[in-house]
Amino acid sequence: MSFEDKQIWLQVKERLKNELDVDSYENYFSSINEVYKTNDNIYFLKVKNNFIKTRIESGYLKRMNDILLDLLNSPHYFMIKTEKEIDYEQERMVETSSKNNFTRTSSCGLNPTYTFGNFVVGDSNRMAHRYATQVSNNINNLSSQQNLVYFFGDVGVGKTHLIEAIGNHILEVNPDTRVLYIRTQDFIEQYAKCGIGASSQQNYTDFYEKFNNLDVLLVDDIQLIEHKDKTQLEFFKIFENLYSKGKLIAITSDKKPKDLQNIMTRLTSRFEMALILDVSSPDRLHRINILKSKLKQELDEQNKINEFPEETLEYIATVCESNVRELEGALKRVLFYCDAFNHDFSIESAKEALQNILNFKNAANSMGNTDQEIKKLINVVSDYFKVGENDILSNSRKKELVVARRLCWYILRSKYDFSYSKIGEIFGGKDHSTVMTGVQEIENSLKEDVATKKNVENILKKIGKDTNII
Ligand code: ADP
Ligand code: MG
Repeated sequence: MSFEDKQIWLQVKERLKNELDVDSYENYFSSINEVYKTNDNIYFLKVKNNFIKTRIESGYLKRMNDILLDLLNSPHYFMIKTEKEIDYEQERMVETSSKNNFTRTSSCGLNPTYTFGNFVVGDSNRMAHRYATQVSNNINNLSSQQNLVYFFGDVGVGKTHLIEAIGNHILEVNPDTRVLYIRTQDFIEQYAKCGIGASSQQNYTDFYEKFNNLDVLLVDDIQLIEHKDKTQLEFFKIFENLYSKGKLIAITSDKKPKDLQNIMTRLTSRFEMALILDVSSPDRLHRINILKSKLKQELDEQNKINEFPEETLEYIATVCESNVRELEGALKRVLFYCDAFNHDFSIESAKEALQNILNFKNAANSMGNTDQEIKKLINVVSDYFKVGENDILSNSRKKELVVARRLCWYILRSKYDFSYSKIGEIFGGKDHSTVMTGVQEIENSLKEDVATKKNVENILKKIGKDTNII
């Protein structure tokens, strides 16, 4: 527990002391001298027994949360734990970590790094964030307007981060909740695998059971289920079952429900019933705040944050305007550049480090209408391979980057009819023969390698191009 957390609690306590009669204060609050732990926006307080816990929860908790809101200016919550509960939790933690460090992570599919604590709120995501924190603090008491939510927005704006934060937060507060995060492409694959082998009937039963018993289902990128009729039916069954039991279902997509195509209407009409919340690209101020937060995370241990001039962050936020993934990548690139060459974190260094992106933007701008399409392609490929946009545009020879980059080249060549030299120009001034060789590599592996074919098809689908690649 940090010094600040303790101070905040002492301020709340002081106000309670002024507001309550002496007995209530003495009985319930006077012995709580510190915050037991914090997690994201929750302050955990430890109390002796269940009687005190229930009294606080029924009589004072709302007022305590209001005081917190007043002090901190953003929604924060208290959570009361008894000594017994804490002991039990700690035992469980020891058990779990001695069995396998990743037990929790692997069974629920969540990436523990996506939390509310490192999610920066701004106008583009305020509603979505508010909803997400509210439901995850209230999972056992969801109303029928709350238990189905559909987040939509472009790639790289934080949808995955947000639904994973919901899952992580719920598990943090209540580790027994049965939470599952699944990417739609994994759902499709797992379902397809059930049909393989001798015991397929059993496989299907197991598959259904796995979802049937959940309290929280988090499904990422549902638009990818289009055209998969059988998988849609299965998903519909699972959905209906959980929904009828009032379980939490959170879905993300890059399209609004009504814009989804080739998905059966009984599913899309269910999605239309959801609370539909958009997440959009952050504005400049929000981008600056995100950069500050990321920088702080990068440098936390070194505590060097003050040495970093704000104007450089402002510069990065100005040139990287499309989405957060791009922004994150740009910051990493500048930090790496400054570190590797021992440069100051100045606007000049940032300009040099980001040269490729700027080249790209200039080239794209001079191309008029197609620039949005190129941006979208690079965006989609970066999302698909989980690599930074600017890394795709860089000269790095890392295997996954080479693959992602060449795929872009291949698509620009075959679907947009770009010349090799034009493609080279967009990708930071590469030679036309380099691009040509890269495109040929992809053409060759398309003949032999199923994975490449699948990757290309998936990407073409995402950018709305026909998937005919012969
Ligand atoms: P999406 O699922 O919408 O494509 P992601 O959730 O994968 O986007 O976000 C892309 C990257 O940007 C992730 O690394 C995520 O942590 C980060 N990110 C997005 N939005 C925010 C935010 N508001 N605050 C902090 N990081 C963010
Ligand atoms: Mg995502």
